[in-house]
Amino acid sequence: MLSWLLAEAAPQQRFDRRARAAIALAGIAPDLDGLGAPVEILSKGALPWFTDYHHRILHNGLAAVAVAVLAWAWCRRDWRVGLMAFVAMHLHFLCDLLGSRGPDGHDWPIPYLAPFSGWELRWSGQWALNAWPNIAVTLAALVAISWLGARRGRTPVEILHPGLDGRICSRLKAWWRLR
Ligand SMILES: [Zn+2]
Repeated sequence: MLSWLLAEAAPQQRFDRRARAAIALAGIAPDLDGLGAPVEILSKGALPWFTDYHHRILHNGLAAVAVAVLAWAWCRRDWRVGLMAFVAMHLHFLCDLLGSRGPDGHDWPIPYLAPFSGWELRWSGQWALNAWPNIAVTLAALVAISWLGARRGRTPVEILHPGLDGRICSRLKAWWRLR
C-alpha cells in the first residue's frame, strides 16, 4: 500500500496504470523470496527454502537494481519508473528494518551487500510485525488510498481488475461525499 501511495505521490498524470503497477509491485517484490515457506512446511524442514532464502535473495541492493531495471524495461524505458521502483524496494527494506520482528524475537536483518559481502543492516529497536505502529500505518494507508480513490478514481485494485476498481471508486466517492 505504501509503494502504491509512493507512485501516487508523483505529479498527477505522470504515471499511467502500468507504471503505477510496476512501482507498487516493486514494493512487494522483495517478499517473493519467502515463497519457499510452503515447501519448507510440507517437507517438514528437509527443504529449508524459507529459512535459507527469505530475506536473502531479494532483500539486498543488487536485487533492488535488478527490479528497477525490469520496471524500466516494462514501462517503455521510462527512467522515472525505474527510479521509483528502486525507491519502493528500499521503502520495503526500511519497513522490514523498523518493524518485522518475529514471534521468536528474530529481527530479520537485511543482507544489503549480498552476495558480495555478509554485512547486514539491523536495528536494535525493531518492533514486532503485529505491533501497534504497523497497525496504525496500515490503517492510515487504507484511509489515504480510499480518499485518493474517491478523488482520482483508482486504487491498487486497478492492477488486478480495472472494472472492479471502478465500482469500488464510485462507492468511495459516495462514502467521502464527493458527489
Ligand atoms: Zn521483506
